[in-house]
Parts: sequence; C-alpha cells; structure tokens
Amino acid sequence: MKRQHSKILISFLALIFFSFVAVGCSIKIDTRLDEELSGELKVHFIDVGQADAILIEQDQQYMLIDAGNNNDSDLIVNYLKEQNVEKLQYLIGTHPHEDHIGGADAVINNFDIDQIFMPQVVNNTKTFKDVIAAIKDKKLTITTPNVGDSYKLGDAEWTILAPNSKEYEELNDYSIVVRLVFGNNSFIFMGDAEAKSEDEILEYYENEIASDVLKVGHHGSSSSTSEEFLEAVNPRYAVISAGKDNQYGHPHDEIIARLEEKNIEILRTDESGTIIFSADADGNLKYEMEY
Ligand SMILES: [Zn+2]
Repeated sequence: MKRQHSKILISFLALIFFSFVAVGCSIKIDTRLDEELSGELKVHFIDVGQADAILIEQDQQYMLIDAGNNNDSDLIVNYLKEQNVEKLQYLIGTHPHEDHIGGADAVINNFDIDQIFMPQVVNNTKTFKDVIAAIKDKKLTITTPNVGDSYKLGDAEWTILAPNSKEYEELNDYSIVVRLVFGNNSFIFMGDAEAKSEDEILEYYENEIASDVLKVGHHGSSSSTSEEFLEAVNPRYAVISAGKDNQYGHPHDEIIARLEEKNIEILRTDESGTIIFSADADGNLKYEMEY
C-alpha cells in the first residue's frame, strides 16, 4: 500500500514539474513572437461622412469596426475589395445606430466573416433588422462583448474595454470600445461612447488606456471625451470621423479646444478624407491621407 502511495506521489510531482516546463516553454515562444512582429499594422479611418468605418489589417488578417450608413454600403464593400480583403476575422458593430451598422449587411453579404461582435441591445429599425437578417442568412452568430477579453489579429492584439453595464439610457453608451496594440503602438476606438461609459472605463482601466491614437467618441460631440478621460488616454493623435457641415455641428468647438489645449494633433475625415495610419515593427507610427 505504502509503495502504491509513493508511486502516486512521484507521478503527481512529475506532472507538476512537467507542467512548469511546459509553461516555461510557452512563455519563451511568446517572447520570441513579441520581438519579431511581422509586417506592419494599418488602420484605415474610411471617410464615410457623418458615420464611422475603420478597417484594421495586420499580416493579411482584417477587422472592421463599424460599416458607415446604409448609403455607404457600396463605398465600403469596394474599399475592402481594393484592399484585397476576402475575409474579415472580426466585424464589430459598436452599437445599433444607422451611422455605424448601416453598411454591415452589405459587408456580411460580400465577405467571409469569422466573428461578429455587437452589444446586447436591440434597435427597432429596418437597418438593425437588415443586419440581423444578413447574420441569420449566413448562419453566423453574434458574440456579445465581454469586457477584458482579448483577441489576436496577426501579431496585433485588441481588448474590449466597454460596455461595462447591462443597461444604459443612451444607446451610444452601449458602444463596444476597443484598445488595439501592435508592438509599441496603441489605438483606442470609442464608437459613440459618451462620458457615462468613459467614467466606467476610467473606474476599471484608468492606468491601462494610454494610447497613441484616440478615435474620438461620438464624432467629436461634447457628450464624449471628458477632460479626465482624455487625460488618461493622453494620445498623440485624435481622429474624428464626421461629415462636412453635418446637422449636429460635430465636432463641437469645445472638444476641438480641449484637444488643442493638450497639443494633440487632430485629424478629421471631413477635412482630410480617408486617413490611414501605419505602425511598423520598429515602433514607427505615421499617417497619410487618401484624398
Ligand atoms: Zn455615430
């Protein structure tokens, strides 16, 4: 009996030992990958007027955050085709307003998609129903965002920072907020999240949201980009996706002043058209305008 016990004990210790070795090996492999990032990361802030559509590519893997208005469908599908996109690893509909999911059904119909993320909230509009119908037709499912979850896009990694609550008064606050990291460079994409969601992000992640590029929340509306939030993100660049002479007066002067005060370089799709950032493996970050 005793011998049996010691045999079991030895097997158990061996198991623990080999587990440590295995963990050690996987850490080693991860470090190597960190040192050898392949190619560059590109982030396209596509000019879709008063709407959002952001294409991210790394090592021939693609992700689309929002898909513009309904009438941007052809523009977005063509843009993706020009970039040789055949499949999207991820499609995120930040929240169910037309200026974010309008073209999503066209994207779903035209490209293979691995995973679709949408917040757990419905909108009683034809646009929303069209997107749900397109998802069903393709036999895809919707992944509900889980704050803190991270996903790989090539050698880049993105993490979900919001929504942190189950219910909000404003549909905008359901926006899926994503922070993307490639080597030394980082981006934060706010959707239309307003100050309420920003406060929650600060509560949980204040020291983890510093980023080189901020996709300003809600097209530069004064309902977003609070002083405290901007302070924590502390970006070098602020990108505003808005339409020329839009009816909402976006971006609001107050937000432009807030960004200028901090010497943040402001880039606007309504002034510059499509804006494309590239980050290389050495940590260099640059941008160009399409038009
Ligand atoms: Zn919007």
